[in-house]
Amino acid sequence: MKKPNTFANLDWSSEAPLSTRFDDIYFSTENGLDETTYVFLDGNQLTDRFNAAESLTIAETGFGTGLNFLATWQLFNDQSPAAARLHFISVEKYPIIPDDLIKALALWPELSMFSEQLIAQYPINAPGFHRLSFDNGRVTLTLMLGDAVECYSQLDAEVDAWFLDGFSPAKNPDMWSPELFQQVARLSKPGTTFSTFTSAGIVKRGLREVGFQVKRTDGFGPKWDMLVGSFANNALSEEPETTWSPSWFKLPQKHTGDRSALIIGAGIAGCSTARSLAQRGWKVTLVDKNPQIAAEGSGNRQGALYAKLPVEPIPASRFHLSGFLYSSNFLKQNLADRSDIWSPCGLLQLAASEKELARQRNLAESGNYPEALVRFTDSTEASALAGTTVNKSGLFFPDAGWVTPPLLCQWLTDHPNITVLTNTEITRLEQVDSYWNGFTCDNQTLTAAIIVVASAADSRKFEQLKHLPLQNIRGQVSLTESTSDDYPPALNTVLCSEGYISPAKEGRFCFGATFDLKDEATDIRDSGHQHNLEKVTDMATELGTQLKQYHNNKGLKGRVGFRCASPDKLPIIGPVPVYDTFIEDYAPLRHDAKTVIDISAKHYSGLFANLAHGSKGLITGPISGEIIASMLENEPLPLEKELIDKLNPARFIIKNLIRRAI
Ligand code: SAM
Repeated sequence: MKKPNTFANLDWSSEAPLSTRFDDIYFSTENGLDETTYVFLDGNQLTDRFNAAESLTIAETGFGTGLNFLATWQLFNDQSPAAARLHFISVEKYPIIPDDLIKALALWPELSMFSEQLIAQYPINAPGFHRLSFDNGRVTLTLMLGDAVECYSQLDAEVDAWFLDGFSPAKNPDMWSPELFQQVARLSKPGTTFSTFTSAGIVKRGLREVGFQVKRTDGFGPKWDMLVGSFANNALSEEPETTWSPSWFKLPQKHTGDRSALIIGAGIAGCSTARSLAQRGWKVTLVDKNPQIAAEGSGNRQGALYAKLPVEPIPASRFHLSGFLYSSNFLKQNLADRSDIWSPCGLLQLAASEKELARQRNLAESGNYPEALVRFTDSTEASALAGTTVNKSGLFFPDAGWVTPPLLCQWLTDHPNITVLTNTEITRLEQVDSYWNGFTCDNQTLTAAIIVVASAADSRKFEQLKHLPLQNIRGQVSLTESTSDDYPPALNTVLCSEGYISPAKEGRFCFGATFDLKDEATDIRDSGHQHNLEKVTDMATELGTQLKQYHNNKGLKGRVGFRCASPDKLPIIGPVPVYDTFIEDYAPLRHDAKTVIDISAKHYSGLFANLAHGSKGLITGPISGEIIASMLENEPLPLEKELIDKLNPARFIIKNLIRRAI
């Protein structure tokens, strides 16, 4: 289980910000920026490397105030050609509080153009990976909040240059441990460079032992010397111990050659994937069999944007939380002025029973989640927040809210690299050499280097995906259409419990939803409306009664959609496995579930799935596009490898084999 991180404690009484925990300074106020330039930027020859049109991945130990990141971004901005991208990865166990970040970065006015953007996106202190994107995706920051060894052992990336920062080895030996050097080596390739301000023997020896060539060179200012060098080869005889399970799921190699993609299905998953690829320069054709995009599961007028959390975080909830934080940051950065698309109005998760109330109190008191994310409210405070009387106490998520998924999909696909073809149904997929063909029902062929199937349960019609265990779950939402004098009643936040209702958008409410298993019918039923009205009344009697009156007088409208779900309720994101080969190669698992199998490529090259987002597409969809695009581009993955593995399309095959072994 991941425990929350504590914040750093800074002492500002001397000239430079000092960490009271480590009794060491973050930087010198006099010449900290010069030192960063000398030690890290020049120590890794970044001016030349940025000039040479490279996209670079730089990783750092110890994010601190972000000064190194900002200086790197500035240099990248000055030196790199337009097509280059910068991926900066850093780790921080004791994040500084936002006020200290603002105070520290104010010392470097020359960086203000960059630091303001970092401050605007600085994440809440939730353990795990935070993926931030700047300058339309040209610069990404993967900020891992947690212990350096733990976080780096969960990272999947190929690093070009290392900034080994962290406080001095004498004051913080954890940052210079053999385990950390093993991770540094695992993530390096021949030619990967490093630099560090220290020349301590433990660092020199540690890096040599894992395969770096290490050179002592002049230090900055009064410091005698420092270390620079490059990775020669992995001196470790075996893969270092990692905290993730045996590599069942090796990921695809970087895609080379033609960068064209055919994406099937224009819901939130398909549209997010299209956007993530288009931003990286891919030419995307996005097809949907319906006359317009977002016509199925992503078609509701409003959906709630929030992550339901357990008291003790588990991998699934960590994924949902990362997805929520990614989506809400994405919306904040890109759609701040689009109140028609989303509203961060806050969300109350009201306790439906005494048991749920106790669980919510536990959650709020567990210390597992930062208060900036979620806090407990009694029914009086909840009513004040909601602007209407609510019947229960509950959890309040201040940054949650609602989204209009079809408008978000519209915005995501509005990109010069994306061509949308509606009324286009693909019925068969075929791989020919390094290309994929998608055949339409009217005998057209669409060809692309890769295909991403994002067409929910419909995907099972493709031979390559028919083994995936997908289930449709019917949901009917209720909608009010018109306003009258005493209507709409005020509602300021989203309410959810066993049902949900968002604040009225343009005077109209959207609430729901039914949960109908094994029901494929699309008719709107009065029983569905009654169910939805009861759920609202359970949460807020007055609001529910007004809506019932509205229904009696004018009649609610409705909409039916289908949530596509997998057996473990997590989405399916990643390369599509070749079913027969998997069964054959993993056969030993039938007898011994612990067998470690060395696999290479067991998936179709260039065929990806992005499915089964259930009712959580608003939090799992946007990050899913980044996952697939990062795999194709061999970029650092935006999430822990452990979580990426949980989404792998092959997991059900493996689970079935293991079940037989037990
Ligand atoms: N690079 C930073 C900058 O540009 O401001 C300065 C880094 S400061 C010298 C070292 C940082 O490492 C501190 O923020 C500290 O909290 C962090 N740190 C120390 N031990 C750590 C650990 N075991 N895992 C992750 N971060 C750690």
